[in-house]
Order: sequence, then C-alpha cells, then structure tokens
Amino acid sequence: MSTQKVHIVWYKRDLRIKDHGPLHKAAESGLPVLPLYIVEPTLINAPTFNPAHWTFIRQCLIELRENLAKLGQQLVVRTGDAVQVLSLLAAEYDVEQIWAHEETTDLRSFMRDDAVRDWAKTQSIPFDEMPKNGVVRGLSLERRDAWKSIRQDRMHKPPWHTPEALKPVVGIAPGHIPDHDELKLARNQRELQPAGESEAEKMLQGFLLWRGSKFIQEEAIHLKAPAASSRVSPHLAYGTLSIRTAVQEVRKQLKNFKHMPPQEKRQRGKLWVGSLRLFETRLLLRDEHMQQTEWNPSLEIAHEMSGFDGLRPYGNEGWPMALREAWETGRTGFPLVDASMRFLNHSGWLNYRLRAMVVSFAAQNLWLDWRGIAPHLAQSFTDFEPALHYVQLQQLSGTTLNRGIRWFDPVDEAKRHDPQGEFIRRWLPELAGVSKTYIFQPEHMSIADQNRFGCIIGRDYPAPIVNYQETTAKAKTQLQAIRSPQVKAFDSGLELPSG
Ligand SMILES: Cc1cc2nc3c(=O)[nH]c(=O)nc-3n(C[C@H](O)[C@H](O)[C@H](O)COP(=O)(O)OP(=O)(O)OC[C@H]3O[C@@H](n4cnc5c(N)ncnc54)[C@H](O)[C@@H]3O)c2cc1C
Repeated sequence: MSTQKVHIVWYKRDLRIKDHGPLHKAAESGLPVLPLYIVEPTLINAPTFNPAHWTFIRQCLIELRENLAKLGQQLVVRTGDAVQVLSLLAAEYDVEQIWAHEETTDLRSFMRDDAVRDWAKTQSIPFDEMPKNGVVRGLSLERRDAWKSIRQDRMHKPPWHTPEALKPVVGIAPGHIPDHDELKLARNQRELQPAGESEAEKMLQGFLLWRGSKFIQEEAIHLKAPAASSRVSPHLAYGTLSIRTAVQEVRKQLKNFKHMPPQEKRQRGKLWVGSLRLFETRLLLRDEHMQQTEWNPSLEIAHEMSGFDGLRPYGNEGWPMALREAWETGRTGFPLVDASMRFLNHSGWLNYRLRAMVVSFAAQNLWLDWRGIAPHLAQSFTDFEPALHYVQLQQLSGTTLNRGIRWFDPVDEAKRHDPQGEFIRRWLPELAGVSKTYIFQPEHMSIADQNRFGCIIGRDYPAPIVNYQETTAKAKTQLQAIRSPQVKAFDSGLELPSG
C-alpha cells in the first residue's frame, strides 16, 4: 500500500465540477483528491439501460475528465462492482475519506450505496454523502411544510465554490473511458441532445434568455415543444447541471425582469414571466416526486395501493405481448399515440403531456401493467430518472393514493395541440397524404378516400387496436371499484388488508 493519503470523490449522477459539494469538501482537506467514476456492470445490464444512455454518460465523462484535469487531477475511471473497486483503491492508497452525493434513484443504487456504507464502516473510512437537491433523507412528504422549508433553504444557499486546484494523486493510472464496443453495447442510433457540463449551461441559458419566452404557451404544442421546452432534463438526471443552479438562474431572470425598462420588457414578450414561473414550478415538482421515491423506494416495483395487485396482467401469464409491441413501435392505429412513440424512439425525448398521454393510453386502454411498460420507456428516455419515472407511471395508471386520475383522449389531444395534424404527418409517413378531415381518425375514411389519399387501413396503417370509449369506460369502473375504499381508508387513517 502506498502511504499517500487521499480523499475520494465518488461521482455517480453528478457529473460536473460546479456547485459540487463533495469535490469542494475533498479539495478543502488539502490532501490529494481522487475523483472516481465507476462503470458498474449492474447498471449497464439493467433492463432500463440503453446504449443511448452510455452515449450521453460517456460524453459527460470525457468533459468532466478534461475539466478536472485543468484543476490538477483528472477523473479516474474503473470498471466493476462499487465495493470491489473501492476496496482495491483502499488497498493501494491510504483513503482518509470518501465523499459522494446522496442518490435517490432506483433500488439497485439504494442497495449499492448500503453496501458501500457497510464496507466503509468495516474499514473505518468515513463516507460522507451530501444532499444534491431538495430531497431530504428520512423525511416523509406528509410533513410537506417542513420539507418545503428545508428545500427552500437549500435553493437559497450560494452554490459550492469550484476548487481552484486539486492536489494530484501521484502515479495513479487514470483508466480508460470504455466505448460501446468495449462494453459490448450496440451503437446508439438516436439523435441525442448534446451532453456535458458546458452544454448544460448553454441549454439552460438559451432557454432562460430566449428559447423559453413562450414556454407557457408552446410547451404542449407537439411540433413546438422540443424547442420551447427547457430540455434540461438529461442534464439534471446526470448532474451536469445542479438543480440549485437552475433555480437560482431562473430567479435571477425574474428579478432582472422587474427592473427592466419598459421597452426591453416589451421585447421579452407578455408570456415571459409566466414561462419562467412555470419552469420554476416544474423544478419544485421534480424534487417533490423525488422526495416521494426517497421515502418509498418500493414504488419502483410495487403498487402504492396494494389493492391493485393482480388487477392488470403482469409477468408471463396473460401478458398481452401483441398490444405492448404495437404500442412500443407506434402501430396502435391511434395516430397521436403512434407519432409520439415513433418520435420518442427517434429522439429520446417527449414533452410531459405526450409522455402522460402514451402512458395513460397503455395503462387504461391497453390495460398494460405499468411495470411492463416502464423498461421500454426508461430505455427510450435519455433523461431516465427512476425517482420521477415510477411515480409518474403509477399516478397515470391510477395506482397511487393521489386523489384523481388524469385521462388523455388521443384524438382530443391531437386536435387541441396539433390542429393541422403536422406532427402526426411528420412521424407517420404512411399518413402524410391523408387530409385534415381524417388525419386524427384515419379509420373513418371510405375505401375511395383510402385509395385517394394513398393509405389503406389494415395494410399501410392499422385500424384502432382497441375501442377507445369502451376501454375507457371499463377502466374507470374497475379502477373506481378498487380506489374508492382504499382512498377513503387512507383519508381516515385506516389500514386496509392488501390484495
Ligand atoms: C410517464 C412519465 C415519465 C416521466 N419520466 C421522466 C424521467 O424519467 N426523467 C425526467 O427527467 N422526467 C420525467 N418525466 C417528467 C417530464 O415529462 C420531463 O421531465 C420533461 O418532459 C423533460 O423535458 P424538459 O427538461 O424540457 O422539461 P421542462 O418542462 O422544461 O421542465 C423543467 C424540468 O422540470 C422537471 N419536470 C418537468 N415536468 C415534470 C413533472 N411532471 N414531474 C416532475 N418533474 C418535472 C424536469 O426535471 C424538467 O427537466 C416523466 C413524465 C411522465 C408523464
């Protein structure tokens, strides 16, 4: 063992140097700093993982390595199980302390962090995990006011100062950042948004200063949403942007606006303030959902309302494979659902409303259990954030204790947010020639119209895979029968037997 004392900064989903508490604290020690990223086989092999995620993460790691090198010690990359990697480093160096952020992600990571905590204890190495957002460990959301006040306090605090220099670890091999071939991953085929800390900053500032001026009006319009939305989600998910930075920057813009001369205010437009406020609210919602998962990590695998167990088929028995496949590939015969799924498969992103609509359709109309659709969506979203994902899926499936369930009729949604059917035509080329009259329900075309518009239903584009009205009515009845007694019991503090 080398006698070199080091502080390890263990990077996970916080791939940045700015506003990074663990990096700041390690540098403050005055000892050599070993910034570490572990390529974990359990992450790469998870059913929620997609090669596109690695494309994004790898780009982040490359930039992080460059940024840390400028400070004096480049990123060290190792592949393997976290405890094994840390044990090897502890055998090589005198590890005085390990720093990391608290993680609220999936059960796999909760267990991994538990194992590292146990190992560090047996080695008598202090392992300090610092909060990285508004999530408060050990606090239930039932104490909402207490939670909100702690979060508010954190969002007000100045960001952690980036160290001016890091004392290097003498003689350490930096390790290679593996590519897709080395990890035996298929090459990513998606058109992804750029990754890395500098891109995160550009994305945020571009949104706050000009792109987001009509966010409040355009974020639900299918063709405009990709440009009008902030698109910071993958950066928040992989931590190339800290949520505190996002909150403080939006507040700064709101404050600036108040003091702007009238002419400049006019230039920014009437919707500007509302758009910025909406963005700030979304950031709060993000932390709130994450707090829900932090308190109840089993939301990833189990219904929040136990009465839903067994309602929808799940597992091998009775699993409606054909319905799921049609939904995943955009072949359900519901143009907005299909266009959304194909756009998602191409880009790795959807706005909130379309995410909610495709999930609501899968859960209520195709009657698919959310656990069966979660992996496909997780793989599809570049911004996959387990702590948000499962809460959303359960809410839309009606299996949480939330008061109401939201319903999204794909035809109404299309008419409202894509009245000319442009989004649908863009992503469903087989419907490109169909007139506005039939674009939302092409199955209503006569045979003569099908020939005229060059789209034969059942050959070029499927007929609706289910009857929307009938499946909606059936879902409402079945959900209500289970939800009413459970919600009532929850409200009055009674415990209901599960099953
Ligand atoms: C079924 C379903 C699954 C989802 N899974 C994810 C996921 O895995 N990862 C993820 O980041 N978001 C998820 N969301 C939330 C939301 O749809 C995305 O955050 C948003 O579309 C990302 O685009 P944006 O960054 O341009 O968001 P903006 O609308 O610009 O919002 C800014 C930020 O606020 C947060 N946010 C926005 N909407 C919500 C919301 N409804 N709930 C909680 N936080 C929100 C996100 O961090 C987002 O980046 C999911 C939503 C649904 C309905």
